[in-house]
Amino acid sequence: MQQRLDADVIVIGSGIGGLVTATQLAVKGASVIVLERYLIAGGSGGYFERNGYHFDVGASMIFGFGDHGTTNLLTRALAAVHMQIETIPDPVQIHYHLPNNLEIEVHRDYEQFIQELGDRFPHEREGIRKFYDECWKIFNCLNAIELLSLEEWRYLMRVFFQNPFACLGLAAYLPQNVGDIARKYISDGELLQFIDMECYCWSVVPAERTPAINGGMVFSDRHYGGINYPKGGVGKIAEKLAEGLGKAGGEIRYGARVTEIIPKAKSEQQAIGVKLANGEILYAKKVVSNATRWDTFSNLLKSEPLPNSEKNWRSRYQQSPSFLSLHLGVEAAAIPEGAACHHILLEDWADMEKEQGTIFVSIPTLLDPSLAPTGYHIVHTFTPSWMQEWQDLSPAAYEEKKELAAKKLCDRLLAIFPKLEACLDYQEIGTPRSHRRFLGRSNGTYGPIPTGKPWGLLGMPFNRTSVPDLYCVGDSTFPGQGLNAVAFSGFACGHLVAATLGLV
Ligand SMILES: Cc1cc2nc3c(=O)[nH]c(=O)nc-3n(C[C@H](O)[C@H](O)[C@H](O)COP(=O)(O)OP(=O)(O)OC[C@H]3O[C@@H](n4cnc5c(N)ncnc54)[C@H](O)[C@@H]3O)c2cc1C
Repeated sequence: MQQRLDADVIVIGSGIGGLVTATQLAVKGASVIVLERYLIAGGSGGYFERNGYHFDVGASMIFGFGDHGTTNLLTRALAAVHMQIETIPDPVQIHYHLPNNLEIEVHRDYEQFIQELGDRFPHEREGIRKFYDECWKIFNCLNAIELLSLEEWRYLMRVFFQNPFACLGLAAYLPQNVGDIARKYISDGELLQFIDMECYCWSVVPAERTPAINGGMVFSDRHYGGINYPKGGVGKIAEKLAEGLGKAGGEIRYGARVTEIIPKAKSEQQAIGVKLANGEILYAKKVVSNATRWDTFSNLLKSEPLPNSEKNWRSRYQQSPSFLSLHLGVEAAAIPEGAACHHILLEDWADMEKEQGTIFVSIPTLLDPSLAPTGYHIVHTFTPSWMQEWQDLSPAAYEEKKELAAKKLCDRLLAIFPKLEACLDYQEIGTPRSHRRFLGRSNGTYGPIPTGKPWGLLGMPFNRTSVPDLYCVGDSTFPGQGLNAVAFSGFACGHLVAATLGLV
């Protein structure tokens, strides 16, 4: 019997990965329904409002908003559905406050950054230049080609014939890690630790476990397209993509939690639709999951024994920690004149990867004051934390532990913002449990991290899964975490699914 069809494609989740997939498919003529369990779109790239403050849920340091090249994937994803967002250029990517008074600012201007880092490590001036210049080589290869699905052979042939040198260059870097490249040129231990932190602050692993392709992208694009903050907050990206999806004929439903991916038959594990928490069943030719691979394969595919491909992936990659997050509203006096928007604080190198070791801080109101009442700033500060720390606690013990951890975090921040506590107006504490609850992510994880030294990006799965007609998109697929990275995953997934539907 012919199956009823509600759409060509159902996308589970409206994170940036899911939205880019959906918009790419809609503009190519596919009928698309996005099902989002929460009340608004965006996932970790969403927002919430409290007491006149407009907080970003997670991401605030935004790559991919450049106006030239091919790696500006957020600009491109929005433009595909005739949307654009005003952005505010950030003059400094990060101000690092590291052990031994290692104070480094990563300026938007590449030469200024290289000069200042070289001033701090004069004996490594040449190595610094060679290391970051090699990252530019990777970036220039990426930035020369259209970024679509590496699983679609006609695209691969086309892109290879259009730009064989860039493709060969990328192929050579695919199995490499940042640490391998850094150690070719640099021997100073403290400088190598700095490079570890340059990686850790977005990959949550040190340089030797961070793929060179991702490093090339981050370490160069920050000076090329730059870091640009979307006016009105990061949530605007998802809002505009959702609006563009509607205009392109797609549909997005909120409060629509998918509880199951429906297989064709018990014996035939082909995805044919989804079941919602309210019991409704929707059918489609293709199902794309923007939930993490752990949630997709352990929670949504009920009858499926874990496929070998996923077992293998789980042996190579584990869940990264989640975060302890503080969303603060503070009087403007808390933030010193001339402060950068993004900061990293670590007092002891031995603590970099430890529970609540490295502290991240973003103050987006320094770029867009409209996100807080006049005379106030928002401060989002977070530090890695594992779910195990927050389980098996009584409600009272959980609240007490949260308050203590928040106090400790604020106390450490006094080293860079001495008036922070005195100027505190509002505080919201989030734990790995909050990340799991509001973002629907297993253990609230930030995403996959390699269990050992990876072969660069070679071990990361693409969008196709071993279950026919089921695809994954987002940070647990190639090339990993970050809004621009999941936009890449979305472009690739949209392209691959469109190709299988005969739309490209
Ligand atoms: C604290 C923090 C800070 C960060 N900082 C930055 C930064 O500065 N810069 C940067 O680029 N990146 C940053 N990131 C990372 C970035 O936000 C993520 O990598 C990215 O947003 C992940 O996008 P995604 O599409 O993979 O999934 P998600 O954002 O996780 O979205 C998945 C969506 O699917 C929905 N969903 C899940 N399961 C179901 C279901 N069963 N039914 C229906 N819907 C479902 C969820 O509700 C969610 O909306 C940060 C992340 C965090 C947590």
